[in-house]
Amino acid sequence: MNICLMSTETKINLKGLELHELEKLVQQWGQERFRARQLMLWLYHKRATNFDEMTDIAKSFRADLMEKAYISQLKLITKTKSAIDDTVKYLFELQDGNRIESVLMYDQNRVTVCVSTQVGCAQGCVFCATGMMGFARNLTSAEIIDQLMGIEADLGGGKKATNVVFMGMGEPLANYKQTMKALRLMTDPEGLMVAARKITVSTLGLAPKIKAFANDGLKVGLAVSLNATTNEVRNRLMPVNKRYPIEEVLPAAKEWALKIGRRVTIEYVLIRGVNDSPDDAHRLCQILHDVPSKLNLIPFNEIEGSSFQRPEPERVEEFREIAASRYYVVPVRLSRGRDIVAACGQLRTQYRMET
Ligand code: SF4
Repeated sequence: MNICLMSTETKINLKGLELHELEKLVQQWGQERFRARQLMLWLYHKRATNFDEMTDIAKSFRADLMEKAYISQLKLITKTKSAIDDTVKYLFELQDGNRIESVLMYDQNRVTVCVSTQVGCAQGCVFCATGMMGFARNLTSAEIIDQLMGIEADLGGGKKATNVVFMGMGEPLANYKQTMKALRLMTDPEGLMVAARKITVSTLGLAPKIKAFANDGLKVGLAVSLNATTNEVRNRLMPVNKRYPIEEVLPAAKEWALKIGRRVTIEYVLIRGVNDSPDDAHRLCQILHDVPSKLNLIPFNEIEGSSFQRPEPERVEEFREIAASRYYVVPVRLSRGRDIVAACGQLRTQYRMET
């Protein structure tokens, strides 16, 4: 993949703009509104990377576009394949030199791309390597969709991901506007045409944003990273819990599930001696009893610089059995590509969609 070589300082990136924004733009440039739809098709269906490819657009307008606009692409720095499974970690460079990770995961017939929404993360979850890195900035909608498009371009042959998960670096709902825009562009028939039910956004539980997400009505999936059954333990693991404690997060998740008509996925990272006791398992069933939900258990993926440990397999099984009294199926997921994705591997799980 090549990064766009044009000087982009004064030019407008056409990627990341929704149809109504493109329509406004082309009209400002003296073109008819339908040109915007044409541009969308070239950008997202035909995956054009330069204006010369857009052969059904008049040469004079193409020349105009070259002067005024550009089509962003991410620069691929490295690609690392896991020795354990087929997971591939992509390291991309942004135009300002910041770097982000995206991950490609295979599971039976599913090809899942995990995208980042921020450079670093401000949330500081103590079990997460990205949280230890701190926060640099939010990604734009273009930078979010360019991760998916960049990986698909790398796959070649017109191959597409079947699923997209927003579980990479950053908290998607803390970058709400750009995340929503990226989601709309991904699901738009004029955009990347990913089925909403094949996309999942993972949040650590920003309660007001979960409610906004429900009101916005996009039918994509939602995963909430819970990881504790008491505020005392959750405060320790996830500083955000002091702002939005469990008794605010779960009603918001319930509201989302009822409004959208889908069950929310509850992610629970099991950490030895911290949140993995039978009492925790019973409490978890109790606090989730009226939340339409699915439960994913994720044994902690040990990372350098952290004193937390993965529970013994028997302990995980005991927890799973208790949780199974509330849920018919309780998958225990191992983080994919455990040897390569330590940067934010805790929640990046083998994602199984129900559809
Ligand atoms: S787990 Fe997610 S929200 Fe928490 S610090 Fe890591 S990237 Fe941020």
